[in-house]
Amino acid sequence: MQVFLSLGGNLGNTQEIFKACYPLIENKVGAILQQSSLYQTAAWGLQDQADFINQVILVETDLFPEAILVAIQAIEKDFGRERKVTWGPRTLDLDILFVDQQNIQTANLQVPHPHIQNRKFILIPMHEIAADYVHPGLKKTIAELLRESKDESAVNIIPHL
Ligand code: ATP
Ligand code: CA
Ligand code: CA
Repeated sequence: MQVFLSLGGNLGNTQEIFKACYPLIENKVGAILQQSSLYQTAAWGLQDQADFINQVILVETDLFPEAILVAIQAIEKDFGRERKVTWGPRTLDLDILFVDQQNIQTANLQVPHPHIQNRKFILIPMHEIAADYVHPGLKKTIAELLRESKDESAVNIIPHL
């Protein structure tokens, strides 16, 4: 199975945290096939906090989606993630965006992630690596969703040093 994961953070040295989490993702979830650039993004949903850094990656995995969730939550914990304020500051947020073309609606897991189409900080990095990927619920490509998105918040690519 191929899973698109989103990475986000705005507490601590996010670029270092991302670098340190890739081997954990490879160990616990599977091989990383593609990585978008890093993007600096204005906080979405709850302003008045530091900008975030966001990235989308594609991972090849043998795990069932529920097990992917357990694995990424364990990795978040390794980096001191605490769940306090909804959409508030965090060291590392790992979300499952898509699992192949699956639709999953359970108490603790919704795939595709329900907010993808409302978030440029997801659509722009995802567009970089998979513009033609079709959202299995909305039946539109990432390129179409990006064109139609009404999210106005800033998303700026971080150039490689
Ligand atoms: P958002 O989901 O809007 O981006 P968030 O990432 O800040 O918000 P969290 O506090 O990290 O929200 O997660 C809350 C719960 O969301 C998790 O405990 C998990 O069970 C659930 N969840 C549902 N669908 C997903 C998904 N696709 N990926 C990750 N978590 C999910
Ligand atoms: Ca999230
Ligand atoms: Ca999350």
